[in-house]
Amino acid sequence: MSIRFYAELNDHLAPEQRYQTIERTFYVPSTVKDIIESFGVPHAEVDLITANGESVDFSYLVRDGDRISVYPMFEALDITPELRVRPQPLREPKFVLDVHLGRLAAYLRMLGFDTVYQNCFSDDELVRISVKQRRILLTRDRGLLRHRAVTHGYWLRQTDSRRQAAEIVRRFDLLRSIHPFTRCMACNSVLDAVSKDRVRDLLPPRTAELYDEFRQCPKCGGVYWKGSHHARMQRHIRQISEQLPETEHPPPH
Ligand SMILES: [Zn+2]
Repeated sequence: MSIRFYAELNDHLAPEQRYQTIERTFYVPSTVKDIIESFGVPHAEVDLITANGESVDFSYLVRDGDRISVYPMFEALDITPELRVRPQPLREPKFVLDVHLGRLAAYLRMLGFDTVYQNCFSDDELVRISVKQRRILLTRDRGLLRHRAVTHGYWLRQTDSRRQAAEIVRRFDLLRSIHPFTRCMACNSVLDAVSKDRVRDLLPPRTAELYDEFRQCPKCGGVYWKGSHHARMQRHIRQISEQLPETEHPPPH
């Protein structure tokens, strides 16, 4: 059989295997899922598999001579919806982050994305939340994405949290979905607009004089206004947007 991985799935392969057709011989029948994972590619990042040009699912038993193509789950690729491995791509992406990604969680919330993060979650809890709430599991740990139950996961290529935020915006095509100043960076709740009088006692000195527009977290009570931290947020968002290169396209197949 021969197999080829497209676009960012190549990041998981050994350098000599990237962006090319790989020939393999199997002596026992294997599912296409097992074969994909044998190359180190987490099944949770795969959205479309074809065998000899026909769309197949993870349980497909690979036969000698098959030509397999494997595509990532995200929108950068123009995949006909009917062909996807899963019935529905996640149109409104929601995330759950592993315990090492606290700074990224704050950035994603700052951008307005629904992001579950707690530094005490076990791997099993992360997987359960991802599956139950249909959240994309973000991690730097490929092993976590090999959990059988995970259907939507993404292995972060970047290590710096701001670059990771830019990576997520690009990979999930979220530039137009950014809504800053709408979500609590501490607890992920959607902020409510509140009058100055309601939050006056909670504000640092002079803030009430300088600003008129306030939002408050209904859950943890945190108050947000367009002060210096807001200017900093705007700067981060601009930097994130500037880090977005053109969408990559896969080589013709
Ligand atoms: Zn809050």
